[in-house]
Amino acid sequence: MAKKIVITIDGWSSCGKSTLAKQLSQKLGYLYVDSGAMYRAITLYFLRNNIDWAEKKEVKDALKSINLEFVFNPNSNNSEMHLNGENVEYVIRDLLIAEKVSDVAAIKEVREFAVAQQQKMGTKKGIVMDGRDIGTVVFPKAELKIFMTADNAIRVQRRFKELYEKNPNITVEEVKDNLEMRDYIDSNREVSPLRKAKDALELDNTNLTEKEQFNKALNWAKEKIGE
Ligand code: C5P
Repeated sequence: MAKKIVITIDGWSSCGKSTLAKQLSQKLGYLYVDSGAMYRAITLYFLRNNIDWAEKKEVKDALKSINLEFVFNPNSNNSEMHLNGENVEYVIRDLLIAEKVSDVAAIKEVREFAVAQQQKMGTKKGIVMDGRDIGTVVFPKAELKIFMTADNAIRVQRRFKELYEKNPNITVEEVKDNLEMRDYIDSNREVSPLRKAKDALELDNTNLTEKEQFNKALNWAKEKIGE
């Protein structure tokens, strides 16, 4: 049987990390974990329950009441985020969540809560996880680390297209502001800031098609697996 490895995909917002991660996991028969969905679901819980996240005690108590689970949905062919038993996969993609998630994800206790669960999911290897600190903090010993980038304008266009399908009132400006704000907070926070791991391979997909990007990453994976 082929050797199983851990693949981490980090990078800026809307670089196409989840698209690549899903494709790789399907091709290799690996588990795919969207770590951002966990931070988004925690943010949803905080907003719904009026948690003042500047207060450590409130945050700690709230985390005790949060159960996160990825549940596979054969109809969407996707592992969907469930928060305390409720499927929140759709609602966590809303811009309202995107506007707050980076603040919530910068909290030490929140990160400890999420990272412990993420590390557990990877103990048997055979996993592709995307996020911001996966190659640096969650799986520092991962066999293949990919760091994705793309030009800002392209990233804004992609995210706008995605969000516009759900909400035609959204503007390009709003999307651009949100991406810039999240990238700024994610790369400047004290705890686990977004960084390219020293041993990560950079994948700039500004001028690559989805297929070209996939083939490049798949070749890297095959080299590491030893095929
Ligand atoms: O990947 P996605 O854009 O859904 O992530 C939402 C937010 O969650 C990011 O902007 C970032 O603030 C946070 N995040 C993080 N660490 C991760 C994954 C996501 O801080 N590993």
